Amino acid sequence: MKIVHATSECVPYAKTGGLGDVVPSLSKALAEKGHEVYIFLPKYGTITTNGITLLKENIPLHFGDQNTFFNLYHLKTPEGVNAMFIDYAPLFDRNGIYGISGKDFPDNGIRYLYFARAVIESCLILNLNPDVFHSHDWQASFIPTYLRTLYSGNEQMRNTASVLTIHNLSFQGLFDPAEVWHSTYLDDNLFQMEGLEFFGKVNYLKGAIIFSTLITTVSPSYSKEIQEEEQGCGLQGLLKNRSTTLYGVLNGIDDTIWNPELDSLIPQKYSLAHLEGKKMCKHELMQQCGFNGREELPVIGIISRLTPQKGFDLVLKSKDALNAAPLRLAILGTGMKEYEEAFQQWSKERPDKIYLRIEFNEGFAHLIEAGSDMFLMPSKYEPCGLNQMYSLKYGTIPIVRNTGGLADSIVDFATDPNNGTGFKFYDYSSLGLLNAIETALSVYAHNIIWKQMIIRGMKQDFSWHKAANTFVELYSNAISLMR
Ligand code: ADP
Repeated sequence: MKIVHATSECVPYAKTGGLGDVVPSLSKALAEKGHEVYIFLPKYGTITTNGITLLKENIPLHFGDQNTFFNLYHLKTPEGVNAMFIDYAPLFDRNGIYGISGKDFPDNGIRYLYFARAVIESCLILNLNPDVFHSHDWQASFIPTYLRTLYSGNEQMRNTASVLTIHNLSFQGLFDPAEVWHSTYLDDNLFQMEGLEFFGKVNYLKGAIIFSTLITTVSPSYSKEIQEEEQGCGLQGLLKNRSTTLYGVLNGIDDTIWNPELDSLIPQKYSLAHLEGKKMCKHELMQQCGFNGREELPVIGIISRLTPQKGFDLVLKSKDALNAAPLRLAILGTGMKEYEEAFQQWSKERPDKIYLRIEFNEGFAHLIEAGSDMFLMPSKYEPCGLNQMYSLKYGTIPIVRNTGGLADSIVDFATDPNNGTGFKFYDYSSLGLLNAIETALSVYAHNIIWKQMIIRGMKQDFSWHKAANTFVELYSNAISLMR
């Protein structure tokens, strides 16, 4: 099968969150199963030409009343995945992915419109004839829309299936029609409620929800949650209409990257059979956090975007109780100023209790996973979440709110002690959070039970193998629906 992914993020080139991890690891798993896989992403200013080769120069694209030309760069990864970079400097040669210093670029609507066209045009000029286009999130959403509209008369594209994966429904790509509609080249009758219009804006994701052959989202629970008002972000009705073609597939993790046995970013590798290394990692983490002595106190790790979605208002509200509890917090994150400042203030008041690093730092993220005893994800909603699965792999016990992918990937010790892999709370409240932490602390005090939990977690298999098989089945369904 020939599969073309279109994405705005892909490690090691561009990542702001889970999307950047998911696309390459799914692609790798698909390539290992013998499929021909391409990943298209924009060539941002941070992606150098080192190691990638120019495949095609000056590909013409009429866009927004202009004759533009873009280049296509290529790299074949050791796993056999074709990474394809759309090089169009006026829109992509910038130092940020979506913006700089937390401020979005004002022309993001145009940027990702161009991206979608350039991906389709590249496939045409290379005669790729993909069996399926797999678009990720709003940034790649115009591909399924175009396949059924602008390119529907094209011989090569007419029957091409498309799959949309919604990684986070809160980000829909909403733009002022005055700024983008003309450049879409879509018929004006598509700018209405049954089409891409959404409260006066052009909604990129909505178009893909309407036009994709199949839709997936990143966990079974989230696929149900987004069909209801609370988490449907205004699109619940449309998603419910598509419920027979909407699937929840839990993301996998790349256990060649997130694996304490192979991880060269941590001070000491370790495994189920040799857990001693985890103690050294904790020691190093404590050093870097400036936590002195009392190695027996549990360290709770957090690695996250600091946004309301992730539930940090609950943590901040619980400050006094957490200050009084026998634990320490190691936090790595960037995001909203008010959260950054509140945590910063807290870490100044209690440097013995809480350490905060405000940056995006892959190495420190690995150290937190390896060196922490517990990992906290109090999310208000969580489409899938990756860190809880990374944590299990590193023998770091997750404390999570029971929502989305967190609900699907963690078994609550409190309700099922023989199979429990973590601790859950259900109500979105600081009381719920503190209860779960308290339960975790009381189990932590029992060495044998705690070690059993660590072992149970490390034995879980969240590799992409299973999810990739599900995707192959879904691609086949999508292809047969187009026949
Ligand atoms: P989301 O995509 O909603 O941000 P996920 O849990 O799906 O959340 O994925 C987040 C990914 O981004 C994880 O791989 C996590 O380790 C990483 N991450 C988040 N913030 C940082 C940071 N400040 N430094 C390093 N990695 C980070």
